[in-house]
Amino acid sequence: MNFPSEAGAEQRRYFVSTFYKFLHIKDVEGTKKALEDRAEQLGMRGLVILGSEGVNSTVAAPSEEAMELFKAFIRETFNSPEQIFKNSFAPSAPFRRFKVKIREEIVTLGTPELFPDLAKNHHLTPEEWNKVLKEESDFLLIDTRNWYETKIGTFKGAINPGIDVFTEFPQWLEEQNYSKDKKMLIFCTGGIRCEKGILELQRQGYNNVFQLEGGILKYIEDKPNDQFEGECFVFDHRVAVDQNLEPSKKYKLCPHCGQPAEIKINCSRCDTETLICEDCSAKPVVKETCTKNCAHQWELRPGRKGPRQALPFELEKGVLKGAKVVAGPKVARKTPKVPKALAATEVSAAAPTNAN
Ligand SMILES: [Zn+2]
Ligand SMILES: [Zn+2]
Repeated sequence: MNFPSEAGAEQRRYFVSTFYKFLHIKDVEGTKKALEDRAEQLGMRGLVILGSEGVNSTVAAPSEEAMELFKAFIRETFNSPEQIFKNSFAPSAPFRRFKVKIREEIVTLGTPELFPDLAKNHHLTPEEWNKVLKEESDFLLIDTRNWYETKIGTFKGAINPGIDVFTEFPQWLEEQNYSKDKKMLIFCTGGIRCEKGILELQRQGYNNVFQLEGGILKYIEDKPNDQFEGECFVFDHRVAVDQNLEPSKKYKLCPHCGQPAEIKINCSRCDTETLICEDCSAKPVVKETCTKNCAHQWELRPGRKGPRQALPFELEKGVLKGAKVVAGPKVARKTPKVPKALAATEVSAAAPTNAN
């Protein structure tokens, strides 16, 4: 068992694990049913993305024993004795329920034809990764996650492509015109995104390419407080995990846009204390209100107090159901100084699928 043990039991009532496996699944519906049945027996919660190309998941168990039994089931079901699990913790269930979603791609690059069929395709362990980072200088280090994930933590010196969704990665890469023999290191949250990312690099003619095995989560487990700085964004209620793999104590989801938020405010309209993000803290009205609804009301009737009406953003948008995480609006990044009109319905949303 490789859950670190030095932290308080308080933070560790739920055992969380992230895993993926590319393999050809013939009976996707039957596999879904089997997963649901086993999850119910063990009291599991979480989100599983399942498709004919494999499985991608983050699950939470109410006990270490239940988690071990579920892992054994996963190893057996997916014929994967060497399965890598990335472990972390939560003080309460980070998902509301257990859900299996069927998708064509288990991590969406828009290229279902790219199938990682090699068990090993230039994977570096955290140890090998560190060796390159610390001893070499002529390489590019690329963060393949979405831009809002990179804001609260990344590897020292990493390039942030600034993509909203992974499907933008191939085009971004094409536009860079990096020299084809350049040594490139890519990483993501749990490793799955890079399994496809590296195939895209190879398809574009890059040969000297490497991916971080198990992603940031495995790296932090092995090498806390080393070359990764800050916290790692995750796609559940925890928002992020820190260097102890415990839920972020610093960030909540911004009630206005869904980005990680750390700026404390008191709502001018309803006096609710909340955290908002840096981008929203630069927008008039938004910067002093606790929800989209309060912002809307405050703009219509400045100075008039009222009760808190709307649910927090994450409840409204289903984030707390473990469904979709809503990314910050594109407009917030590209033109941060020009807030759009505050209609209660105005949400632009990228929707990543799962921890990846
Ligand atoms: Zn915001
Ligand atoms: Zn309010």
